[in-house]
Amino acid sequence: MRVSVLGATGSIGVSTLDILSNQSPGGPRFQTVALTAHSRVDELARAALASRAEFAAIADPTRYQELKSALAGSDVEVGAGAGAVVEAASREADCVVAAIVGIAGLPSTLEAVRQGARVALANKESLVCAGDLLKREARTSGAKLLPVDSEHNAIFQVLDRPDRVEKLILTASGGPFRDWSLEQMSRASPEEARKHPNWLMGAKISVDCATMMNKGLELIEAVQLFDVPEDRIDILIHPQSIIHSLVAYDDGSVLAQLGMPDMRTPISFALSWPDRMPVPGLERLDLAKIGRLDFHAPDPARFPALSFARAAAAAGGGACVALNGANEAAVEAFLNGRTDFLSISRTAGDMLEETIREGRHASPGSFEEIYDLDRQVRARCCERFGLSS
Ligand code: NAD
Ligand code: MG
Repeated sequence: MRVSVLGATGSIGVSTLDILSNQSPGGPRFQTVALTAHSRVDELARAALASRAEFAAIADPTRYQELKSALAGSDVEVGAGAGAVVEAASREADCVVAAIVGIAGLPSTLEAVRQGARVALANKESLVCAGDLLKREARTSGAKLLPVDSEHNAIFQVLDRPDRVEKLILTASGGPFRDWSLEQMSRASPEEARKHPNWLMGAKISVDCATMMNKGLELIEAVQLFDVPEDRIDILIHPQSIIHSLVAYDDGSVLAQLGMPDMRTPISFALSWPDRMPVPGLERLDLAKIGRLDFHAPDPARFPALSFARAAAAAGGGACVALNGANEAAVEAFLNGRTDFLSISRTAGDMLEETIREGRHASPGSFEEIYDLDRQVRARCCERFGLSS
C-alpha cells in the first residue's frame, strides 16, 4: 500500500510514520510515497530517509537548499514551497494522510481528494471550511474520506445503519480548564492551555481543546462526515477519554468505540479499513484498572465556543469559514502573547456574528471564495490584536 503523509513532522504525522515503520506479520505492507513538513528540515529529512520516501517537500521555500543538502546522496526527490506540498499530495498513492494543521492543509487535502485516493483525514479545518466542496470533489474522483479524528473514527467504526441514527454523541475530555472558573481562565498562560490531560498533540489543537473550540470544530466535522444536523449531535464531557464517541439508534441501542487515548488506533483503522491491522506497542485498555468512567454535560457559560460552532453549523459554510479563520488567528495571537485566553472564543464569536450580519454566511461556491473570506476574517483579527496581516 502506497502512503503519503502531509504534515509528517507533527503529532499525527509522527504517529503515522510509527505505524508505517512497523511491518508486522498479518498487517499490510506499506511503501512511503511523499512526506511534507512546514519548516523542520532535519526531522523531515530523517523521516524521509528512514521511511525510504520517494519525495520530500518543505512548505517554507527558504529551506530548499537545506533540505537538498540534508538529502544529498539519497534517492529522495526534494521540493519546496506551497506548490511542492500540493505536488506531494498529487503523487500516486493508495492513501494520503492529511495531517497538516489549519486551513493551510486545504490545498493539499483537496489535491489528494482530486487524485481519487483514500484520504485519512486528520486536518479537520479543511472539512470545517470546505466540507461541501470537498465531498463534491470526492464524488467526482471516487476518493474516500476516512476520519482520523478519534471521535469521528469511533463513530465511523460503529455506524452500521446511518438511516436509523437518532443521535451522535461526541465525547470531550473537557481539556485542561475543565474545572477552572472563568476568572482563572482569564489569566491562563499558553503553557497552561497547551497541557492537555490525556493527549499529546500539536499546539493549535491543544489550545482548541482548552477553549473547547476543538469540540465545536468536531461538531461541524461530524455534520459534514455523517450528514447529521447539528441539533442531533450531543457533546458529552468524559474526562478519561476512553469512550471515543457513541451512536444512539432509534431502537434504544447506543454503540460506542473504546480504547486508550492513543491516535495510532484511529490512524491504523483509517489505513487498513475495511480490514484491521495489528498495532503492537500501544497500551491495551484495562477497564478493571481504570475502575470508573465519568460523564457530565458541558458548561456553555465557560465554553462559549460550543454554541458558536452550533450557530455556524446551522448558518452555513461561510459562517464555518469565519469561525475557523478567526479561531486560527486568535489562537496564534494567544500563543504569541498578543491576547488573553478568553478573547480567543470571543473573537471567533464576534467574527461569526459579523459574517452573518453582513450576509456572507451561506456556503461558498468555490475554493477561491473560501480563501477570500478566510483572508478577510484574519485581516480583521490582526487589526484587533494590533498585528500586521
Ligand atoms: P502539529 O502542529 O503537531 O503538526 C502539524 C503539521 O503540519 C506539521 O508537520 C507541520 O510542519 C505542518 N504544517 C503546519 N503549518 C503548515 C503550513 N502552513 N504548510 C504546510 N505544512 C504545515 O499538529 P497535529 O496535532 O499533528 O494536528 C494536525 C491535524 O490533525 C490538525 O488539523 C488537528 O486538528 C488534527 N488532529 C490532531 C490530533 C492529535 O492527536 N494531534 C487528533 C485529532 C485531530
Ligand atoms: Mg478529536
